[in-house]
Amino acid sequence: MVWITEVEPKVFIHQHPLVRAKLTWMRDVTTGHREFRNLAREVATALAWAALSDARLKPRRVRTPLAETQGYDLDERVGLVPILRAGLGLVEGVLAVVPNATVWPVGIYRDEETLQPITYYEKLPQTMPITLCLVLDPMLATGGSAAAAISLVKSRGVQRVKFLGLVGAPEGVQFVRTQHPDVEIYLAALDDHLTPPPQGPEDPPAGYIVPGLGDAGDRLFGT
Ligand code: URA
Repeated sequence: MVWITEVEPKVFIHQHPLVRAKLTWMRDVTTGHREFRNLAREVATALAWAALSDARLKPRRVRTPLAETQGYDLDERVGLVPILRAGLGLVEGVLAVVPNATVWPVGIYRDEETLQPITYYEKLPQTMPITLCLVLDPMLATGGSAAAAISLVKSRGVQRVKFLGLVGAPEGVQFVRTQHPDVEIYLAALDDHLTPPPQGPEDPPAGYIVPGLGDAGDRLFGT
């Protein structure tokens, strides 16, 4: 029973049958935003279990109704950094398994001329009081925002950073791996490619993951 496949060093794809089925429902263009949001939450929970598989524990004695025994507490302070706005769609699912995590959303967009990521919103403390940070964005497309968010978190003193998303493009995965070779990436699928710049009004915008999910923010929020 191996549900997590390391397709490249530090790139993990969750292949549990339920994850695959739920992601397929998310891909379906006829799936409405309420169901899409529920599915995103469920898949995020599955990915969080995987991403936290090396979580540190500290021993704790516990009394059951029958006897005293040895148990454990989580010995991590976890921070979540969802990239606005679609990253918000993964927060609830991750909090289902680490309810004490702190959440610091960050807003990053790509400047159309320079193509550089610009951070327009962040309230991260200068030193983040956490031992592990999960950067959340459902779509790892070009990787620019993800890499910028990871750099930001590292600049605030966090040593262990992981990325958690639903679908990745090879381009985005390679970009993050190049910029941050220490960062583990957890996805439910690694898709084929990104859309090229549009040639006509019917074409999708550049940089969308194919086959992907479409605009994850629109699908999550019904916009
Ligand atoms: N953002 C999205 O919402 N979808 C993509 O396919 C790529 C980026």
